[in-house]
Amino acid sequence: MPEFAPSANIAALNESATIAVSAHARALRAAGVPVVDLGAGEPDFDTPSFICRAAQRALDAGATRYTATEGILPLREAIADAATALRGGPPARPVEPDEVVVSTGSKQALMNACFALFGPDDEVLIPTPAWTSYYEIVRLARAVPVPVPGDPTDGLRVNRQALEQAATARTRGLILNSPCNPTGAVYDRQAFGDLLALAESRGWWVISDEIYRHIAYETAAPSSLTIAGWPSRLVVVDGVAKAYAMTGWRIGWAIAPRSLARAMAALQSHTTSNAAAVSQHAALAALSCREEAAAAVAGMVAAFRERRDAALAVFRDEPRLRWVTPQGAFYLFLDVSDIASGDEAAGSVFARHLLDRHHTVVVPGAAFLAPGWIRMSYAAPQDVVRDGARRIVTARRELTD
Ligand code: PLP
Repeated sequence: MPEFAPSANIAALNESATIAVSAHARALRAAGVPVVDLGAGEPDFDTPSFICRAAQRALDAGATRYTATEGILPLREAIADAATALRGGPPARPVEPDEVVVSTGSKQALMNACFALFGPDDEVLIPTPAWTSYYEIVRLARAVPVPVPGDPTDGLRVNRQALEQAATARTRGLILNSPCNPTGAVYDRQAFGDLLALAESRGWWVISDEIYRHIAYETAAPSSLTIAGWPSRLVVVDGVAKAYAMTGWRIGWAIAPRSLARAMAALQSHTTSNAAAVSQHAALAALSCREEAAAAVAGMVAAFRERRDAALAVFRDEPRLRWVTPQGAFYLFLDVSDIASGDEAAGSVFARHLLDRHHTVVVPGAAFLAPGWIRMSYAAPQDVVRDGARRIVTARRELTD
């Protein structure tokens, strides 16, 4: 067998740790092990039926062919209208459909944006911990991801000073994610506005990943579009996967200045062409059947909130355990750095112990460049979440006592 030698393109590539964890859980379950899966980065709900029905109708009507690379016009119009509604005060101009590119998941939208914007030696600031793929996508664009550590006393959020300290003459961009995967932290208007204003003053591009924006609890998570209107260098990335329980449909999008949108569409024309036609029609239903969508999203968000509270109720009984209280998304980030882990990362030791002894899957914080932490997802039925939280507490006692 000839030896495979990775090309320079992927020589430094790491497999997606979150996807690897899900695959591991699936394999254990297939082998008959009763797994408590708190690793998944996806809602456990089915896609709302009004969306599935719209997709069926679209198939019957022949939505089986290529579409425009940038996506079908009615979907881009719906995305542009929603973005226009989010934009702050006068003088507002509407977001136009030609500033929208629909892609195969928001992951591809991020890839398109990073490829189009950044290149060799460009530095991109990434408030850390952050979703594992940001670092890899920036590297695939041959740019340099620069992790900027969040403040442990402020839900691991970054502030203006932290970004200023990390910036150099080569800084070209900043990737923001609120609500944040893995912490569930939300940037309020003031904090978000500070970061956007800094980026604007320095000429950095901001990629604002707002995929969890609809999943927020006590207060709404503001959009960069509401705060900043339409600054010159903003790309808003969003999609239907998380809020509408549509992970498998693979529809995301980027909203960007027209010239950049054109460049991203050109790039996409050579990779995936267009996102799946039937999925685009499903996403159109999610965005345009407003009342049904609002009811479906509200129901799922209420369930996530109850599950979060169920997990927190377990953790609050455990002295010395520390976590970031999630204000959005469906993740809980726990500090396990005080366990005995030798030379290994505490989060990885903890996750392995939890899986081996308690058949419970969580993601080691190393995946998010926070090696002393673990991420549990509470996108699972409430009894599973509560059971998993108790197992985490038991595992922690075993590793600290
Ligand atoms: N952005 C963040 C922060 C995520 O957590 C994920 C998925 O886990 C994505 C983007 C990708 O979502 P999509 O399914 O739309 O590609």
